[in-house]
Amino acid sequence: MSVRETLETDLLVVGGGPAGLATAIHFRRCLAELRQRRPELPDLSVTVIEKAREFGAHCVSGAVVDVEPLVRLLPGRELPGFAVPCTGEQIAWLTQTRAVVSPWMPRYLRQRGLQILSVNRLVRWLAEAAEVEGVQLAAGFAATAPLIEDGRVMGVRTGDSGLDRQGRPKPSFQAGADVRARVTVVAEGARGSLLRQLDDALHLSAGRPAPVYALGLKELWQVKRGRAQAGQVLHTLGYPLDGSVYGGGFLYGHAGDQVSVGLVVGLDYQDPRLDPYVLFQRFKSHPRIRKVLEGGRILGYGARALNEGGWYSVPKLWGNGFLLVGESAGFLDTRRLKGVHLAIESGMLAAETALEALSQGDGRGDERLAAYADRVASSRIRQDLWQARNARQAFRSGRVLGLAQTALQALSRGRGLVDPLAPSRGHAEMRPLNQLEQPRDAASRVAGQMDRQVTFDRATALAASGTNHEEDQPPHLVVADPEVCAGRCRAEYDNPCQRFCPAGVYEIVAEHEAGKPRLLIHASNCLHCKTCEIMDPYQIITWVPPEAGGGPSYEAL
Ligand code: SF4
Repeated sequence: MSVRETLETDLLVVGGGPAGLATAIHFRRCLAELRQRRPELPDLSVTVIEKAREFGAHCVSGAVVDVEPLVRLLPGRELPGFAVPCTGEQIAWLTQTRAVVSPWMPRYLRQRGLQILSVNRLVRWLAEAAEVEGVQLAAGFAATAPLIEDGRVMGVRTGDSGLDRQGRPKPSFQAGADVRARVTVVAEGARGSLLRQLDDALHLSAGRPAPVYALGLKELWQVKRGRAQAGQVLHTLGYPLDGSVYGGGFLYGHAGDQVSVGLVVGLDYQDPRLDPYVLFQRFKSHPRIRKVLEGGRILGYGARALNEGGWYSVPKLWGNGFLLVGESAGFLDTRRLKGVHLAIESGMLAAETALEALSQGDGRGDERLAAYADRVASSRIRQDLWQARNARQAFRSGRVLGLAQTALQALSRGRGLVDPLAPSRGHAEMRPLNQLEQPRDAASRVAGQMDRQVTFDRATALAASGTNHEEDQPPHLVVADPEVCAGRCRAEYDNPCQRFCPAGVYEIVAEHEAGKPRLLIHASNCLHCKTCEIMDPYQIITWVPPEAGGGPSYEAL
C-alpha cells in the first residue's frame, strides 16, 4: 500500500464557490482584527480546495445578485466591473406564440437595484481577494471522502476517487493526499458528494424531508447590437413547461450586447420522457426570446442542479469538526430565485464561528461550533428561508394550485393554508410508462428539430461548455447495476437518463457482442450538474469526483 501525503491546515474549506471563498476571506480578515487586539494569538492557516482546474470554472448561475452581503464582506472595495445594476424587470406568461407581461410584480421578486453578473467571474474575483488575504487556494483537488475519527471530522481525503473501473472500492489509493484540519467547512454546492457521505455517517438529515432539486440550464450569448439592453431582467412562466412541471425561464441583459438565457426545470416531474435540454431549446425558439438571440452566437453553455428543499429540509448545520455553508446547507431562496447572497452570508457566519472555536479554549472548540446554528437562526438566512418555507411545496399539485397557494403564502408571511405543506418526493414522482395517459409528442422524445442558429443539439452546446476529462481514469459515474438499465429501466421508464442528462452522457446502445442493449457512459461529457444522481428512478447512479480537475471550463457563465 502506498503512503499518502498528509497536509495540515487550521481551517479547511471544501469548495471554492461564493460560500467557500466568503468563509475563507472573512476568516482571515476577522483573524487579522483579532490579532491586533491579541498579538499573542498565532496566525491560523486557511486552505480552500476546489475540484475545478481553476476557481470559478465549475460555477454557473443566473444571476441577479443581492450584493448587500458582498459589500459587507469586502467593505470599501468597488463592485467588480462586470456587474450591471438591474434597471428594468418584467414577468411574462408565455404561450407557444405570445408573451403576456404581468402588470404586477410581487415585492420579493423585484430586482431593481440588484446586480446582474456572472457568478463564474464573481468567483474568480473573490479568489483574487482571498489570495490577497493570505488564503491558500488549491484548484484541481477534489475531496473524495471525509476523514472521520471517533465521530469527529478531521479533514478530507483528496484526489483519487477510490473506485476501480467497475466502481468497486480499490484495495489501495495511488494518488491524492489527506488534508487534516481543525475545522472543515463544506461548501460543495447542491448535492455534494462529501455531504452525502457525511450524511450517511452522521445522519445530518435525520427527521427532515429530503431536499427537492431543480435543474438549471443556461447559455451566454453575444447578440446583435440593440437586441438587448444591459440591466434588463425578464422572468417567464408557462411555455414550454406544461402545468404539471415546476420551473420557468429567464433572460438577463449584460454589458457589451451579451445576454444570459436559461430555463429551470423542477426535478420532480412525472413523465420520464420529458427532456429538459429539448425544453430549453424550445424556450429559446419562443418568438419573445428568438428575436433577441437571432443573428447572435452562443458563447457558453452550462447546467447545474439547484437545492430547492427550503428551510424544512435544511440538515443539521454543524457537527464535531465541521460546518455546512451555502447550497450544501440548502440555503437557496426559491421564492426570490436567489442563493448567492445567502451563500456569502452563511460563509461569513461560519468564518466567525470557526475563528471563535480555533482561538479559544483548547483550540478545537467543537462545542463552540454549535453557535453556528444559532447565528444562522438569527440572521437574514433564516428570515428569508422562513418566508419561503412552503414556496416550492406549493407547486406539488401543479402550477394553477401552486400560484394560488403562493398568493396566500405572500399574505401570511409564508404560512399559507397548511404549514408545513407536504414536500414533493423528487425522483419518486416519476411514473412508469404504463401509468401515463397521454403520449408525449415525438419532438421531446428525440433530439427535436434544431435550427443551428438559435437551437442546437447537445454536442454543439457541450463544445461551448469547455468540458473535458482525462479519458484514462476510473469512472466517476458509477452505476451499481447496469443490468437494470438495459432491462427493467428500459421497459418501465424508457431510460430517462438519456434525456434528463443535459450533456448526453448516458446512451443505450441497441446492440453489443451478446446481442443485447447496454448502457454506454460518455463520462468525459459530464457537466457535474448531479441531475443523474438526483433523478435516476432506481437510485443506482453515484457521482464521484473525477481526477485531475476534470469537468466544465465555464467562462463568464
Ligand atoms: Fe449531470 Fe450526471 Fe449528466 Fe454529469 S452525467 S452532466 S452529473 S446528469
